[in-house]
Amino acid sequence: MHDKPVALVTGANQGIGLQIAKELAAKNFTVLVGSRDYGRGEKAAKTIDGDARPLQIDVTDQASIAAAAERIRKEIGRLDVLVNSAAIARTGRLSGATVEEYVKSTRPSVVSLDELRAVFETNVFGVVAVTQAMLPLLREAPAARIVNVSSGVGSLTQNSDPAYPHRPIFGPVYPASKTALNAMTLAMAIELESTGIKVNAACPGFTKTNLNNYTGTQTVEEGAREPVRLALIGPDGPTGTFSNAAGPLPW
Ligand code: NAP
Repeated sequence: MHDKPVALVTGANQGIGLQIAKELAAKNFTVLVGSRDYGRGEKAAKTIDGDARPLQIDVTDQASIAAAAERIRKEIGRLDVLVNSAAIARTGRLSGATVEEYVKSTRPSVVSLDELRAVFETNVFGVVAVTQAMLPLLREAPAARIVNVSSGVGSLTQNSDPAYPHRPIFGPVYPASKTALNAMTLAMAIELESTGIKVNAACPGFTKTNLNNYTGTQTVEEGAREPVRLALIGPDGPTGTFSNAAGPLPW
């Protein structure tokens, strides 16, 4: 039996996922640096102090997810923490559009269903698929934790308030994918309540990463704070919550 706790972070080859991986490695975890491209994962793992190992995992590819779970089972035999951080804001097809153009072209009345499906495939179904594949290992761990990296832009409560500043950009693609992810988080937490596995959603806050063309205002260290806190909560910690570093967020 591997003697250190093991964490898998999806989308850990850059951005907030990479920072979460660094911080869990610093807390003595063996960290599996999930990356859809093995080479990028290998390169990222080399930047991490501690026991960090690249793991190829494309969250939209069932065969890749199954192979990753199999590899963890065979090579390590243990998984204590799963951080679902991989996500996309939009597809490559619309990568050239400005935020204003993108918001306009993805209003519910005109949004391309291909765009909608592709973003939900990664941000929602990918999380469910990876969690399902990793659960047999997580169930064997003494105190497993699942953290879904969500976003305040998915909060229905906040977006229902006419005074909420980001309301005009609430749309059916990325924001609604995070609303759906929140729903999945709560459903998973409810199912797993009796097992001791805690499942929580964390909003990192507007962080300077590739996801927003590095326009975010926070550092990755600030963005990783809440996901890392939730990955490390003890037996008295919460399950089925949505929060950022400042505290609870409304669903
Ligand atoms: P990022 O730097 O763009 O990182 C996203 C990561 O997800 C990359 O490693 C990317 O891999 C990976 N990824 C995308 N599709 C994948 C797939 N099919 N399979 C596996 N990996 C995939 O963005 P980030 O800002 O760090 O985002 C991390 C999380 O924070 C996301 O869940 C995001 O929604 C959330 N978030 C971010 C902000 C923010 O302001 N940055 C705010 C709220 C929430 P490649 O390198 O191969 O593309």
